[in-house]
Amino acid sequence: MGYNSIVLVKQVPDTANITGDVMKPDGTVNRAKLPAIFNPEDKVALELALQVKDQYGGKVTAITMGPPKAAELLKECLYMGADDVILVTDHKFAAADTLATSYVLNKVIKKIGNFDIIFAGRQAIDGDTAQVGPQTAEKLGLPQITYTEKILELNNGNIRVQRLIDGGHEILVSKLPALLTVVKEASVPRPFRAKRAMAYKNYVPPQLATEDLDVDIKRCGLFGSPTKVYNIESVVLSAGDHENIEPTKEGLGQLIDKLMNDHIFG
Ligand SMILES: Cc1cc2nc3c(=O)[nH]c(=O)nc-3n(C[C@H](O)[C@H](O)[C@H](O)COP(=O)(O)OP(=O)(O)OC[C@H]3O[C@@H](n4cnc5c(N)ncnc54)[C@H](O)[C@@H]3O)c2cc1C
Repeated sequence: MGYNSIVLVKQVPDTANITGDVMKPDGTVNRAKLPAIFNPEDKVALELALQVKDQYGGKVTAITMGPPKAAELLKECLYMGADDVILVTDHKFAAADTLATSYVLNKVIKKIGNFDIIFAGRQAIDGDTAQVGPQTAEKLGLPQITYTEKILELNNGNIRVQRLIDGGHEILVSKLPALLTVVKEASVPRPFRAKRAMAYKNYVPPQLATEDLDVDIKRCGLFGSPTKVYNIESVVLSAGDHENIEPTKEGLGQLIDKLMNDHIFG
């Protein structure tokens, strides 16, 4: 018995550490200069999947679509407790926008089959679109619950979930299988297990490429990506952009006047 989960995970540049030399003159990010990390909400999504497994049994499979280097991320999933991992990699998948990414991920999920819950992070900290989870659910024809902060119950083929919404919470019940996107508030990811880290240290995750999947090449990678970035601006704040406001009643009054004049307030 138990519930089988698939977790969508993405390796991202650590955007919290962007400094001057990370930005290229054309305004794009020089990824080689930034450490690659586990997208934070995907780690929380994996934690929720592992909690389901701990409580009810079943299996957790983590998948990522990315360059060969993304194998590191999958090893971290194994260190935390995932049972299986799959690296989806092929230069024909590169430069994918969310449409092409969700297209390929839905094909991979169909190939894996036998799942009850798909977990994704709410959004990736680099692309920041929050589209891949919902688009994947749509392509699989599955119900989706976004902004998951708590799984309240799994019973009789249904899942009851608490969502984080503006100013409160919402409780939804869905039939399984379903796709959940997870917010960072949902849990604290468990640390790596030392024994598992030693066991999987030299593990090479299995890979899937275009020829292993029932995909239409025209819907993959750059070809299948209608999103075009028209302009990228590198915003560098200089000292002139700062203003010191005294923490006094007068200072606050001046700040409010300024915000109203700039049409930020009012
Ligand atoms: C060879 C290769 C190179 C790539 N290089 C880049 C790159 O340089 N930059 C880049 O941003 N993307 C790259 N990708 C991946 C793909 O293009 C992006 O994942 C996609 O556009 C995601 O958009 P987003 O960041 O807005 O995700 P969002 O929609 O914000 O992500 C929401 C959630 O969807 C899931 N998700 C998103 N992307 C993936 C993924 N790839 N695999 C599994 N789960 C995912 C995660 O759970 C994530 O939290 C590459 C892919 C390949 C095959």
